[in-house]
Amino acid sequence: MISVRNLKSEKFSTRFENSVLHTIEKYGLVSRKEKILVACSGGKDSTTLAFILKRHGFEIEALHIDLGLGEYSRNSLRNLAKFCKDNSINLNVVDFRKETGIVLEKALVNCMKHGKSPCSICGTIKKSIMNRKARELGFRKVATGHNLDDECQSLVMNVFRSSPSAASFGPLTKPSEGCGLVPRIKPLFFCMESDVKKYSKLSKLPVSGGICPYSKNVYRREIKNWMDRLENEFPGTKMAIVSNFTSFAKGLCRKTCTRRTCKSCGEASSGETCMACQAMGMAKTLSRNFRKS
Ligand code: SF4
Ligand code: ZN
Repeated sequence: MISVRNLKSEKFSTRFENSVLHTIEKYGLVSRKEKILVACSGGKDSTTLAFILKRHGFEIEALHIDLGLGEYSRNSLRNLAKFCKDNSINLNVVDFRKETGIVLEKALVNCMKHGKSPCSICGTIKKSIMNRKARELGFRKVATGHNLDDECQSLVMNVFRSSPSAASFGPLTKPSEGCGLVPRIKPLFFCMESDVKKYSKLSKLPVSGGICPYSKNVYRREIKNWMDRLENEFPGTKMAIVSNFTSFAKGLCRKTCTRRTCKSCGEASSGETCMACQAMGMAKTLSRNFRKS
């Protein structure tokens, strides 16, 4: 016999999946004919995304970048490998160290010692590896597990610290043709983090919930707490911020998509040297300094 609790859970899961499919359809993120490379960290968001896409008949493969960050990385890869095996998803693993020649852990430890944000280095290099691998593997779409909370925090942080980039905001980032950047899609763009968590639990997905030991971004945490408080007091705040900026960004996108080529690596860049090459240079210096100390 199905209990009321189970029925409620089933309804929630169906509603959640439908909301993801609705975003895919409304924003034309991907067609059934396209193969999607899902960037999988082993965490709840990307695993949930891969699970829903596979369950609804999309042709997907997973891409994991093994960052070599101790137990956290080992757990993430173990969980992801199990998930992919259970769901017959081909898993592509890239070893960060082999790919870049950088021991990321050393670079990040030193990064923190110097009061710099580890995520700006790590995230930028990961994005560049992801793009190159997607191209090499012949994928024309990369899907990431960013949720509404992630997007809302990034947007507010950018408003306060620099200027929000309209070109890379929204559930679909579509770069200019021929610039070498693979379009990125975010089907969980309008999903609250708490709902993703609930869905992944109900679906019994193998995710540990472990947090990256270098994700100590105090500023982001402050913004997160602030947004959570606002959401509690005024439900719908996060959705309103993200939806309004999504419509606003649409109008600006064409003006902000002009790109040049990086003089070091030849990839698309908004300046002379791309962000990834700058981050790699910084990471190399930081990891070398680590050995001396
Ligand atoms: Fe890298 Fe930051 Fe993500 Fe950790 S939280 S994996 S340092 S981007
Ligand atoms: Zn470059």
